Amino acid sequence: MSIYDRFGVRTIINAKGPSTRLSGGFLDPEVAAAMNEAATYCVEMAELQAGASKVLAEITGAEAGIVTSGAAAGLLMGTAACITGLDPGKMSRLPDTRGMKNEVIMVRSQRNFYDHAVRTTGAKIIEVGLPDRYAGAGVRDAEGWEIQEAINPQTAAVMYVAGGGSQPTLPEVVRVAHSQGVPVIVDAAGQLPPASNLKRFIEEGADLVAFSGGKAIGGPQSSGILAGKRDLIMSAILQNLDLDIYWEQWAPPESLIDKKRLCGAPPHGIGRPCKVGKEIIIGLLVALKKFVAETEEARGRRLRTHIDKLYGLLADADHARVQVTSGSIPKLELTVLKDAPRTAMEIVVELERGDPSVHADPSRVRTGVISFSPWCLKEGDAEKIAARVKPLLRY
Ligand SMILES: *Cc1c(COP(=O)(O)O)cnc(C)c1O
Repeated sequence: MSIYDRFGVRTIINAKGPSTRLSGGFLDPEVAAAMNEAATYCVEMAELQAGASKVLAEITGAEAGIVTSGAAAGLLMGTAACITGLDPGKMSRLPDTRGMKNEVIMVRSQRNFYDHAVRTTGAKIIEVGLPDRYAGAGVRDAEGWEIQEAINPQTAAVMYVAGGGSQPTLPEVVRVAHSQGVPVIVDAAGQLPPASNLKRFIEEGADLVAFSGGKAIGGPQSSGILAGKRDLIMSAILQNLDLDIYWEQWAPPESLIDKKRLCGAPPHGIGRPCKVGKEIIIGLLVALKKFVAETEEARGRRLRTHIDKLYGLLADADHARVQVTSGSIPKLELTVLKDAPRTAMEIVVELERGDPSVHADPSRVRTGVISFSPWCLKEGDAEKIAARVKPLLRY
């Protein structure tokens, strides 16, 4: 029985990993306890974010940082910050960007569902480069000169999605953008682990970087980090905080918001709907400290136990081959053979619909491969997964 039963909702076994659609992962008891405690007090939100900024600056190497309601919220507020700077008039007019820099350059192959957050600000995405992969002979993606060539007086930022194969490299993009005074925002939502990536993109020159708190960090599902240049973070938080306050009364912490630099306080900004609760901020900070305290080896070993167990249980499954992937965080891949009673897609669907509901990673299901990720597995889940999978592979 769980709290969800009270509301007629079933819980699932999550072998897909911390997807938002599947509610992310689950919280370490220490994180959950911290959130519980945080929930029993009131604080001033600007002071809490200033406290978070100190921790985030230390951990990311950036000048400042804030806790957001997710990486996508960070992209939204980061883009807004690049458009408005510290001008409260511009902040109040978004998403109407008339008279402002309103173009955000993106490499075409990096376009993705989350860039809606960039467009939400009123910015227009200017695509560059052609990922020439389908032509057989094609080898190229976007190149630095193409970004350079797209920069003009309307350019507010370059949006860069970090990933194994992202082209051009971030240092190259930074070099080109900074040579024309344009900031670079990095979407690094899914780039953890390794924890060293918390510092990497800032070191490589990013002006802003957004991470998910609800993925590998193990923070609350609706949390994230936006870290970077002090002025941009100041602008971002000004467009996120509730500013229902008299100017005379308003005394924000100077380390985060330097009131002297403002001609007035903006009304609620474009990021106000991305509200972050105090429990979320504390939960993210406690989870982040735990995340950086664990070595990559220890993390790999901890998660590997689920995969080793699952491998042992599924090794003799009928009409399938199982294999453990290499890499620091292994996954189990189950290849459904041609003579199996069901296709991989049918098995994925059956696993989800049955009881207990098991969600596997279907990203390669069309090639017959079902993957199982250890990120959100609990003690005992491997046995339950194997008990569901094996009968589906039998006639
Ligand atoms: C998950 C993800 C996001 C969104 O992160 P949230 O924390 O869920 O808002 C954005 N960009 C990329 C590349 C992602 O993988």
